[in-house]
Amino acid sequence: MTTKLILACTVCGSRNYSVPGNRNQAVRLELKKFCNTCNAHTLHKETK
Ligand SMILES: [Zn+2]
Repeated sequence: MTTKLILACTVCGSRNYSVPGNRNQAVRLELKKFCNTCNAHTLHKETK
């Protein structure tokens, strides 16, 4: 089953990206993405 994961900026909390994938209950997805609010590349974490 594939669900959509929302990635939120860890600096400002903006939800900038959604990616298809499976929710992994053990590990939270973390990706470096460009945040328009911070105007910089920041770490984005999976959120609900
Ligand atoms: Zn940000």
